[in-house]
Amino acid sequence: MEIIDGKLISLQIKDELKEKVSELKAQGKNASLAVIQVGNDPASSIYVKNKKKACEYIGIGSISYELSENTTEEKLLETIKELNQRKDVTGILVQLPLPKGIDEDKVILSIDPKKDVDGFHIANVGALCTGTKGFVSCTPAGVIQLLKRSNVQIQGKHCVVIGRSNIVGKPMALLMLKENATVTVCHSKTENLKEICKQADILIVAIGKPKFVNKDFIKEGAVVIDVGIHRDENNKMCGDVDFEDVKDHVSKITPVPGGVGPMTIAMLMNNCVEAIL
Ligand code: NAP
Repeated sequence: MEIIDGKLISLQIKDELKEKVSELKAQGKNASLAVIQVGNDPASSIYVKNKKKACEYIGIGSISYELSENTTEEKLLETIKELNQRKDVTGILVQLPLPKGIDEDKVILSIDPKKDVDGFHIANVGALCTGTKGFVSCTPAGVIQLLKRSNVQIQGKHCVVIGRSNIVGKPMALLMLKENATVTVCHSKTENLKEICKQADILIVAIGKPKFVNKDFIKEGAVVIDVGIHRDENNKMCGDVDFEDVKDHVSKITPVPGGVGPMTIAMLMNNCVEAIL
């Protein structure tokens, strides 16, 4: 069994980007990310801090907007409108979730698709569907990098994705299709889930339930990617896959922490650089 080291791969990507950013700077092209946080949800504050840290590491400018919990939708839309128009701002990110009373879909739609580095705008989702250029949602894009950089053959393989959220499952399935895998998408209404998963050469789990997938779901020698992030009963981080139970049945697996998690920010940085190319 081989561990797919997301921490290491994400660092390699960030170092490659750092080099690219300095080349672009020499050509007078500067990337700058505006990060908007509404309210002070502690988890969001940590994500925002890490994103700003990553910007600093690779040499991208970052501008923070910390708006109060009772900011109106109108005020937020106005801020985004200003940022859409600013030439010096090349990427815009609104940290989700937003406080109740603010329509997330409306907010995402208001971001200029060319600055939508999260890849959530329907113009970018549509681009992914049709195989044209656009920003791809960071977590699934990170999974593709993990597979490629670990020399996992994707073409022709049967990939099963558990989960069909707009942020992970659906774009994940589309990306695997783009890489010429044969893709099956499972969700909460899927019948015979274990049997379907057992046919997978590559099993990608984004279900949001701690340690849900055990060895009964896995074909001997399959590659397993665990997108889930949770705290277990001992407050230890764990994924959607029961790592200890499956580890002797897989050929390669991502751990939690240190698997998919670090890739999300690396791919966000990649999108920030793409925004100025
Ligand atoms: P989500 O929106 O809750 O979606 C979960 C998906 O799993 C849904 O499509 C749901 O089906 C499906 N599902 C739920 N119970 C199921 C069951 N018993 N059998 C089969 N399918 C089932 O979650 P998400 O946003 O995609 O995130 C998934 C996990 O990834 C979470 O643990 C989240 O914290 C983690 N995550 C990690 C990162 C990262 O950077 N590593 C980024 C994003 C998310 P229905 O559609 O039928 O409801």
